[in-house]
Amino acid sequence: MAELIDGKQIAADIRAEVAQAVKQLAAQSVKPGLAVVLAGEDLASAVYVRMKAKACEEVGIHSRVILLPAETNQAELEKIIDELNADPAIHGILVQLPLPPQIAERSIIWRIDPAKDVDAFHPVNVGRLAVGDSDAFRPATPAGVIELLLRSGHDPSGKLAAVVGRSNIVGRPLATLLSLNAKGGNATVTVCHSRTPNLFGITRQADIVVAAIGRPEFITKEAVQPGAVVIDVGVNRVDDAGSEKGYRLVGDVAFDEVAEIAGAITPVPGGVGPMTIAMLLSNCVKAARSIASTA
Ligand code: NAP
Repeated sequence: MAELIDGKQIAADIRAEVAQAVKQLAAQSVKPGLAVVLAGEDLASAVYVRMKAKACEEVGIHSRVILLPAETNQAELEKIIDELNADPAIHGILVQLPLPPQIAERSIIWRIDPAKDVDAFHPVNVGRLAVGDSDAFRPATPAGVIELLLRSGHDPSGKLAAVVGRSNIVGRPLATLLSLNAKGGNATVTVCHSRTPNLFGITRQADIVVAAIGRPEFITKEAVQPGAVVIDVGVNRVDDAGSEKGYRLVGDVAFDEVAEIAGAITPVPGGVGPMTIAMLLSNCVKAARSIASTA
């Protein structure tokens, strides 16, 4: 049976380190501040925003949630971003995606000051990461995957890694991080997607398989070689008449059968999910430190 990689515990350790770093910044009269902007009434987004604000509070980061109506237009949102860019109490700006359809997502993300782009979606930060700048922000979910691997004793260095999924948020930046000549990198990486032929043939050769697809239990035991480390980024709702809510959350990996042969595996929930928020907090501290040092 595979070793369970406990994302909740590892995320708690990181949050404790962040709280410590916040105390050290307080000694220099710096209090990290995060602004989270939510436009519209998407229920899942509202839950994420509340979770992020609560997590900030717990580690001593000041948080400001800006709730905007679904009808907000481009110019109004741009004005808010400009104000946050100029606000010395705010070191991190996060715009919760997806945005309402009348707003051009890309131009909003590109308007955020790269020094405050704690999501690391701005092209300046994507580029800095890609060229191996060790000071660059790392996007939270992929950075969380790397921390899970390192802190559970599964350094990717010298390993074959298969990343299934190539989104800008997870798969592609994760492939970058895994292939960097840096701590948490030095893997040989294959990126798989919906046009990949013989996908299971590729993942079966990998020492590390990361699933970031958004397809419930897609990675079955046929996709994994015995002893491989399997990281499940997916979060999917599936109907479950037996549960109170009528649904349950499953990952992109068929957990029970893959756990029988894998060397180590992350659960859903309790794996990558808690890491994402922990890494966001860590980026806020990094932003505050860097802005304070140049002020
Ligand atoms: P996304 O933008 O929809 O991208 C999905 C990727 O999977 C695409 O590259 C797509 O390929 C690929 N894919 C889809 N079906 C496939 C198939 N049958 N075979 C091979 N590849 C396939 O999703 P995302 O934002 O990266 O998120 C992926 C999953 O992670 C979702 O379940 C999401 O909820 C979850 N997630 C979790 C966290 C967390 O904190 N735990 C954070 C972010 C995302 P193409 O490019 O060819 O279409």
